[in-house]
Amino acid sequence: MSKRTLIHDCALILPDQVLPRGWLLVEGERIGAFGAGVPPTHVTADQRLAAEGRALLPGFLNAHTHLEQTFMRGFASGRPLLEWLRNAIWKLQAAMDAEDVRLAVTLGLVEALRGGATHIVQHHKVAQPGVVLALAEQFGVRLTLARAWADRGAEAEPAERILADLRELFAMWHGRGDGRIRIANGPLAPWRCSAETLQRSAALARQHGAVTHCHMNETQHEVALTMQEHGLRPIEWFDALGILGEDFQAVHSVWLSDGEIQRLAQRRATVVHCPAANMILASGCAPVVRLRRDGVRVTLATDGPASNDGQDMFEMMHLATLLQRVHTLDPAALNPREALEMAWGTHHLQVGAPADLVLVNTNSARIQPVHDWHAALVHNVRQCDVETVMVAGQLLIHEGRVLFLDEAALLAECRERAHHLLRRAGLN
Ligand SMILES: [Zn+2]
Repeated sequence: MSKRTLIHDCALILPDQVLPRGWLLVEGERIGAFGAGVPPTHVTADQRLAAEGRALLPGFLNAHTHLEQTFMRGFASGRPLLEWLRNAIWKLQAAMDAEDVRLAVTLGLVEALRGGATHIVQHHKVAQPGVVLALAEQFGVRLTLARAWADRGAEAEPAERILADLRELFAMWHGRGDGRIRIANGPLAPWRCSAETLQRSAALARQHGAVTHCHMNETQHEVALTMQEHGLRPIEWFDALGILGEDFQAVHSVWLSDGEIQRLAQRRATVVHCPAANMILASGCAPVVRLRRDGVRVTLATDGPASNDGQDMFEMMHLATLLQRVHTLDPAALNPREALEMAWGTHHLQVGAPADLVLVNTNSARIQPVHDWHAALVHNVRQCDVETVMVAGQLLIHEGRVLFLDEAALLAECRERAHHLLRRAGLN
């Protein structure tokens, strides 16, 4: 019989209501039952977590990040996107060896979990994707690795190598860890990719029931590059290539025309909104309220630590709501419930759903008193309030402690290693 964990005496954040005091039973990898008040006497468990003063919510989907950039925090300051990429990020990524990747991504996984994410989409730009996938499998994290690539310009790879690598990743990793590990096709940006490789790689992903995940329309400069070359805006060009669909994720989508918004809606594509990265790099403000109103699905993400400096999904919800209000001059734009919806993706507390759960301590001077749970989660709760994180019924962080590694030792190793990396890349 599968292991049963009972979490009780906490607020339960359900899809359509909040139970101020309730209980939830985890059976094996899934949510078995929940209810209001105290657990009925017939509910038995192998493990009980008393959670008074806590809120239990579904873990978030951090829909786009580059975790290897934990070693590059702070490098975004004062540079526009392309200059930032060319003069700092690409140099550092090229200098990373397998051990750098292992440590930087481990640090990133710990940080992302602490930030409330139980499912992470890693748009993986450096070598050694196997190192990252093995870490996710070993730690028990839910991770989609979008194999990043460019077949044109700086750092271009030959198309055949990209496709062979994707085929191998799909064969070896897609669906491993009881479905926790997934592979995606990750072209880096329209102006860095050829039409042919885009089409072939997207078709390959489709064959495996996987998505294509790409930075789109992030800056006005990038939109102009695609217009100059193809006479079409980036979303229009991808649509002409047959890539737009339910299995397409357009990361950023800051500068969209009316026609592009219409196509995203018609093709049922997803936009991944990264509010902090768009502000830090001064890229602009994605029209999230308009996209949602026009029927485009929007998810939320931190983006990499080099263009955010953090992986806190609570902070992203807070920033997303404030940014939309400034953008639309409407104080009701993107309410807290809507921000949570974007951050959860399809994750909900419901019987039969994967037990991907987060417990936050709300007993703090920053959060109490709580009048509106959704507002408290978006505007008051932060990464430091996350105490317990469970993925597929397995505790990864409990009472603030990471259970799958020695965090103090990891921090010491990362400090040392990142210092050497900067020196090797000539950037210190
Ligand atoms: Zn990115």
